Amino acid sequence: MRRTTYRTCPFCEATCGLEIEMEGREVASIRGDREDVFSRGFLCPKAFGLKQLHEDPDRLRTPLVRRGGELVEASWDEAFREIDRRLSPLLAEHGRDAVAVYIGNPNAHNLSSLVFGPVWLRALGSRNVYTASTVDQMPKQVSSGLMFGAMLSVPIPDVDRCEHLLVLGANPLVSNGSLLTAPDMRGRLRALRERGGKVVVIDPRRTRTAEEADEHHFIRPGTDAHLLFGIVHTLLDEGLAAPGRLAEHCAGFEVVERLARDFAPERVTGACGIEAREIRRMARELAAAGRAACYARIGTTTQEFGTLASWLVDVVNVLTGNLDREGGAMFTRAAAVQRNGQGAPGRGKGVHIGRWHSRVRGLPESFGELPVSCLAEEIETEAAGGVSPDGHTPRGAQVRALVTVAGNPVVSTPNAGRLERAIESLDFMLTVDIYVNETTRHADVVLPAPEPLEKSHYDLALYQLATRNVANFSPPVLERADGQPAEWQVFLRLAGVVAGRGPNADVEALDRMTIEALVGRELAEPHSRVAGRDAAELIESLEPRRGPERALDFMLRVGPYGDAFGADPGGLTLEGLERSPHGVDLGPLEPRIPEVLRTPSGKIELAPREIVADVSRLRASLARSANGSMVLVGRRQLRSNNSWMHNLDALVKGKDRCTMHIHPIDAERLGLEDGGRAVVSSAAGRVEAPVEVTDGIMPGVVSIPHGWGHDADGVRLRVARRHAGVNSNVLADENVVEPVSGNAVLNGIPVEVGPA
Ligand code: SF4
Repeated sequence: MRRTTYRTCPFCEATCGLEIEMEGREVASIRGDREDVFSRGFLCPKAFGLKQLHEDPDRLRTPLVRRGGELVEASWDEAFREIDRRLSPLLAEHGRDAVAVYIGNPNAHNLSSLVFGPVWLRALGSRNVYTASTVDQMPKQVSSGLMFGAMLSVPIPDVDRCEHLLVLGANPLVSNGSLLTAPDMRGRLRALRERGGKVVVIDPRRTRTAEEADEHHFIRPGTDAHLLFGIVHTLLDEGLAAPGRLAEHCAGFEVVERLARDFAPERVTGACGIEAREIRRMARELAAAGRAACYARIGTTTQEFGTLASWLVDVVNVLTGNLDREGGAMFTRAAAVQRNGQGAPGRGKGVHIGRWHSRVRGLPESFGELPVSCLAEEIETEAAGGVSPDGHTPRGAQVRALVTVAGNPVVSTPNAGRLERAIESLDFMLTVDIYVNETTRHADVVLPAPEPLEKSHYDLALYQLATRNVANFSPPVLERADGQPAEWQVFLRLAGVVAGRGPNADVEALDRMTIEALVGRELAEPHSRVAGRDAAELIESLEPRRGPERALDFMLRVGPYGDAFGADPGGLTLEGLERSPHGVDLGPLEPRIPEVLRTPSGKIELAPREIVADVSRLRASLARSANGSMVLVGRRQLRSNNSWMHNLDALVKGKDRCTMHIHPIDAERLGLEDGGRAVVSSAAGRVEAPVEVTDGIMPGVVSIPHGWGHDADGVRLRVARRHAGVNSNVLADENVVEPVSGNAVLNGIPVEVGPA
């Protein structure tokens, strides 16, 4: 019997609504949900991967435990007994920091992970926590945290009302938006242009977004901060800065003014490769536009000056008066938010990076995690001690065990070869994943994660970065098969092991403790909408829900649109969302300054100390100019998202996509031909890739997409193996990180290129 169900796509940040027809337990069809309040029927080819993932015979359905060197099927009880047997003695003997954790990108789309991941991580208590953030967006979170006081206070382009959009290092037509939740970016950008607006793209590649834009400028990889400082200089130099009402909410104008003096367009042009008169024109047009936004993404964060570039984007938005203005760069007001003791509206504790440092290299933590570029050395290096560059004494133990959750760091992080060798030397490795991939093939225990259709979905994180205030909840489409625990129960059972409660912890009791902690944090907030209410009574009101649904219902009800447990009878509840399968539209973005700020000063910190200290490094780089050598950048692909979608035939079939793009001038100079093969080598490694000659890339730059390289022994990905590609992160140097955020430098890697 057929039934239709509506569901938010979990595969990227766009949160598209899907209409899924089920025939029993089989997926009959998937199409865009035309009534979805946000995506209005839009979807991309990746959505069909949901059906293939459901059917994929390589997807794990049973725990695996290593016996005699082989991963063999085991029951959940056997798997947890093995975890307890191996992990608990390590924790007892070597301490909490001896167990490292790597959390992969799909966790950002996973309600269970977002609610219960922190629970077991707190129970573990290790300082060796790593995530995909430090090979991705960490610089933006650092700059936003320092400027506005919270790591997710990221200004989002108000695309639907914007009249001038300056896009740097982002390809939203292919990514469908990143740190910008906005389904159908093609439609939204077309609408922007149809209402007379302008889109300008800055990128070393002529991306699909660039092809649709009014203007595209090639830029030398890693020099977005130079260009942006040139724009800031022009705004100030030509008297174009007009922050308007923001002026009274900002601190540090004079510091920005002083710093910008050294970055006249005529001085930065040599570094970034864009003519000075063009930079001045960009600044003048931004200033003249009624509603404009500057937006930047991965090309600007995974590079040498990532935090500076991220900061300057918002300095430009402030100076042009576009921050927190309709049609500019605004702050989303999400329906459900987890409290973290950040402070009252308008003023808070701000953020502090570098509260501890990695043991070996002394790199600072950000928001509770260390740069993943450090992971290999933390496993390999025996001796403790050392002093970080800022004088702190790093602490911690040698990493002897690793837990990965929905991650593939061997493919996704720098110098894959070294990390892989380090992982092979571990005493124990546990993974929660859907596949045996390049990383999880080394695990001693593999716990299968449920497929998306088997769990409820709500984009707790991504709705904080959306271009419109929306909320949409998807209940599970399929029951878990008999005996298979829900994912949140797996996390709690794991919390039990690392807390010393053994392999059969009382999951119900731990779930109760989780909701009590959530309610307790809310009640501790002086401005809470349920301040003064009785915790037990509030929890009682959430019956009979359990797990992530109970936590979500609570967060929605105390949130800005919630019913506050009866105080606003028309307000949002999870039950209300369940009655609205196409989502609830909560309106366009609205100005939020000063209420959104959580800095100790209650101001927008235009010149945070940590960022200002890095400007001298940028100034020193002005003397550099192109020397004829080649640099490597990545590229986003419509039918791929990092490393894990390559086992879905519909998304990998056809022409080889893991190719090296090179400009015809360089190809001729280096003796390369379209369709031939090239050797690309760097200080870290060497790969061989098929050549694609195209004038869509800047001379002096080559591009290989990341996330490929699936031909290793022991990988159980039959389709991906046939489309293996090469792992471009073999070329990234783990010793080169952006110093403020610790983010890996994956764009602008110096390489030598020649025929294979
Ligand atoms: S754009 Fe993203 S959310 Fe939308 S269908 Fe594609 S993968 Fe899913």
